Amino acid sequence: MPIRELPPEVAAQIAAGEVVERPASVVKELLENSLDAGATRIVVSVRQGGVAEISVTDDGCGIPAAEVPLAFRRHATSKLLTAADLSTVATLGFRGEALPSIAAVSRVTITTRPADTSAGLRCELRYGEIVASDELGCPPGTTIRVQELFGNLPARRGFLRSAAAETARIQEVVTRTALAWPSVRFNLTADGRPVVDTPGSGRLPEAILAIYGAEVAARMLPLSDAAATGEPSSDGLAGNDLAINGYASAPEISRHNRSGVTLLVNRRWVQDRSLNYAIDQAYHGMLPERRYPIAVISIALPPERVDVNYHPAKSEVRFRQQPNLFSAVQRAIRDALIAHAPARPVARPFRPAGGAADTDTPPPSDGRRVISPAGRGGNGGLVVPTPDYPLLPSALPTDAVPLRQTLESLRVVGQIRQTYVIAEGDGGMFLIDQHAAHECIVYQRILRQWADRERIAQPLLAPATAELTFAQQDTLQQHAELLAVSGYDLEPFGGNAWLLRAVPPQLAAADPIQSLLELLDAVALEQVVMERDDALAATLACHGSVRAGATLSHAEMTALITQLRDTPQPHRCPHGRPTVVHFSQYQLEREFGRR
Ligand code: ADP
Ligand code: MG
Repeated sequence: MPIRELPPEVAAQIAAGEVVERPASVVKELLENSLDAGATRIVVSVRQGGVAEISVTDDGCGIPAAEVPLAFRRHATSKLLTAADLSTVATLGFRGEALPSIAAVSRVTITTRPADTSAGLRCELRYGEIVASDELGCPPGTTIRVQELFGNLPARRGFLRSAAAETARIQEVVTRTALAWPSVRFNLTADGRPVVDTPGSGRLPEAILAIYGAEVAARMLPLSDAAATGEPSSDGLAGNDLAINGYASAPEISRHNRSGVTLLVNRRWVQDRSLNYAIDQAYHGMLPERRYPIAVISIALPPERVDVNYHPAKSEVRFRQQPNLFSAVQRAIRDALIAHAPARPVARPFRPAGGAADTDTPPPSDGRRVISPAGRGGNGGLVVPTPDYPLLPSALPTDAVPLRQTLESLRVVGQIRQTYVIAEGDGGMFLIDQHAAHECIVYQRILRQWADRERIAQPLLAPATAELTFAQQDTLQQHAELLAVSGYDLEPFGGNAWLLRAVPPQLAAADPIQSLLELLDAVALEQVVMERDDALAATLACHGSVRAGATLSHAEMTALITQLRDTPQPHRCPHGRPTVVHFSQYQLEREFGRR
């Protein structure tokens, strides 16, 4: 077949496919237009999952009658003038593609009136062609009604899911947008049934309440703007050009997927793998495996620092020069979680005393402060982090003897849920998180081994070959030296193949190839939130440690406690979780009403 230019209606349908994938994408584009038009109230109604009808009404600026036909022309927009504007877009739309794309695959009726004109215009289009246009009286603002979506593209219709499933996606779009814009009142009805109704008060907690209900709203913790520290970043811009706000759920509520996590970048709902990972890490150890929080994380940064023109549906963005963004998000959430410790803690992470006995673990100088409980001198104080961690009842006995000394005296009682070791000791009852404790031990062993450049490797009986992705090879090259010190013996084997001859001893029990691939993937993710070498040490430690879910013998539990005792910094795993939690004799007695 000779090369020919496609007829305009075919080209329009192809282009429309990029923007309008399903009814929810139409709703997303129309909401963005209403918000760009300055609306304070947006009413959406859909029928049959949006396929029969989608209608969006706003009280925004409206479109002057003469410009209406232009709004439906491809690449016609009021939001950009030059290519340079593209790098500083402050509006949600900018490509001038949504209206022509929607119109190309449906029947559209637009009714619009700018507030300063007396009459409005109503215009009907059929698969992109204007078929009727008349003046009429209407309130200021714009209504766009989309009917028979994909009526001219039966194949595309075939890809849609059930009406209920498409309605659920529409509801998700409206929900996320409403969370991004608490000052705008959003209302969604589906087949006449009210689905979303937010107050538009400008207060995010009220939007959260309207969307997730009182149960969840009561358990949302505000993020203090941890990022706005004013530290200059590498490009000379002040660190407080970055602001992180929002709410994250307390650990007692969670979901089995990420549907409750709303990431907003300059008020745009986006998906971002690295940010998701930063959120997971903030909750590390606080939520059970594969449980996710409910959160609205709103990131504001200068428009030139994000590329919003990266994804056809604008649902992913790229960050420019923002290496501290991921750790700032993690820190903001972590701080909120720490500030939210229960008012009367039943158990608390074991904290070292500043006392003299524990010479290897000096009092921390990282922003925590040492408080001496009233009237109990001599034994050092309790150490609490400065962010609003509730003070412990002052009558609490000063049993905060140094952890290492305490570990010495512990007697193993048993194991709970193949996760925690229960032990009894001088100061009461102790629970040891077997994975966190072992991770802590192995991590520090690795750091020592690296410092000594002491290589310990476990040769494989037969060398194995691994096919690595480009990303994995990149990670491998970044860490080549320390991977070798840790025990890996790897050499290029042509193409993407690598020959593996030896592995670190702590990984000797695992499938060598599988664990190498997992390690490289995990390090790449850890690097987002940790220093590069630390990320490798933490990942090696995590993969080489006893897991939660493993049954330990009495001897193994005792050995774990002994090894922890011999670790220079036994208090936390590399992710910052406590290794030991302590219930004092006093607390036990009080809980049982003996005091
Ligand atoms: P974009 O949003 O990228 O500019 P669209 O095709 O979505 O492109 O819209 C084209 C133009 O139509 C917009 O630039 C805007 O001027 C106008 N427009 C669309 N929807 C509305 C609305 N609800 N209120 C006011 N103007 C609108
Ligand atoms: Mg638009």
